[in-house]
Amino acid sequence: MSKRYDTIVIGAGIAGVSTAFWLQKAKESVLLIDRKGLLSGASGAAGAFLSPRLGKGGALQKITNDAYRFALDFYKKEAPEGFFQKGLARIPKNEEDVEKFFSLYEPHIDVRYRRCESGDLPFIDKNAMRYGAFCFDHSAFVDPMTVAKKLTERLDTAWGIDAKPVFKDSLWHIGGYKSSKIVLATGAQQLPVTIPYIKIGGVWGERVDVRSEADIPMTLHRQISVSANVGGIVRIGATHVREDEGSEIERVNRLIVDAIELVPSLADQRIVRILAGHRSSVSDHFPLIGAVADYDLAKKLLKSPSKSVKPENSSIPSLNGCYIITGFGGRGFVFGPMMGKILAEKITESAILSPEISADRYLLRALRKNGQMR
Ligand SMILES: Cc1cc2nc3c(=O)[nH]c(=O)nc-3n(C[C@H](O)[C@H](O)[C@H](O)COP(=O)(O)OP(=O)(O)OC[C@H]3O[C@@H](n4cnc5c(N)ncnc54)[C@H](O)[C@@H]3O)c2cc1C
Repeated sequence: MSKRYDTIVIGAGIAGVSTAFWLQKAKESVLLIDRKGLLSGASGAAGAFLSPRLGKGGALQKITNDAYRFALDFYKKEAPEGFFQKGLARIPKNEEDVEKFFSLYEPHIDVRYRRCESGDLPFIDKNAMRYGAFCFDHSAFVDPMTVAKKLTERLDTAWGIDAKPVFKDSLWHIGGYKSSKIVLATGAQQLPVTIPYIKIGGVWGERVDVRSEADIPMTLHRQISVSANVGGIVRIGATHVREDEGSEIERVNRLIVDAIELVPSLADQRIVRILAGHRSSVSDHFPLIGAVADYDLAKKLLKSPSKSVKPENSSIPSLNGCYIITGFGGRGFVFGPMMGKILAEKITESAILSPEISADRYLLRALRKNGQMR
């Protein structure tokens, strides 16, 4: 007999791990599955820096920095052994950046920070620090695997299952398991359920870990990130590969050259490992979470909905207890804990999501576009 759960979460990256964690806290029976294993997608490659968003204010900055504050408290409490609160310096990379940092962005910084000068951070190349930096002393990075193992220690898990969910007799069937609800947390990879109105893109990237004796007490972010040195290991990340940008080794070499330019004492580095993965994103760059709609039924019922029909409207028909969480871009470890909690509340308490993150925004856009084409 196949084992039955309330919810099966498909994909054991930080999105799936966080969602399963919060569902279990809400007393749901949960199974977390992955086609390979824990953190086998982008989450295993992440430098996992928790970095605030700088910008001109606006909804994306607010959601990101709310998630950032939430994530700092969350990892510190739930997985302190994988949490490194070393602080972060954000350094402008050129004149254009200086203008942005100190004129456009500074009035909108909504997390604690201070301005630092070259003398405050003597391990950084003086030329690189000539304009100064913003220092976020409470910022941190996490060790992805330590955190994920801690968050899943009480969960049922099943690895090596390439999920192709089938809905039959009012239940979802995946391999030898069944459930009334499923969560698609499959990152940038092809969705295992057809959702015609959602298109997930991805940006490939590499990070490299090096062994070094360089004294780097704080994480740095200029055009690349260089972590604080913890136990002789420094993480350097990350590449953003959009087109043909040479071979992996060329890209990683460039990362290392840039890192040494920023911190000259890194010249003693030796590569320990190279990690790579595909970041998931959707066109508006907000996370995408919530109930999946029954697209064919929505077309019949809602036709081309007026602007007054907003995401989370009760008239939107949902697809048999199917949910999604993705679109974390380069900030999966920032968004994961808060978005996982919000989705768990949606699943267990029918909480209403804010329109910026609700998956319904793409349904409504697709229906309206269809309507215009007719
Ligand atoms: C080089 C690099 C550096 C990064 N640095 C940072 C950083 O410093 N800070 C930060 O916050 N974020 C960073 N990110 C981004 C972060 O890694 C992602 O946003 C995050 O990992 C996305 O998590 P996810 O769970 O949505 O997807 P993933 O981690 O990709 O997980 C998806 C999982 O689903 C599984 N899967 C897919 N399809 C199926 C199926 N049909 N059946 C079963 N399993 C399936 C996959 O095997 C995979 O394990 C970085 C990313 C990269 C690539």
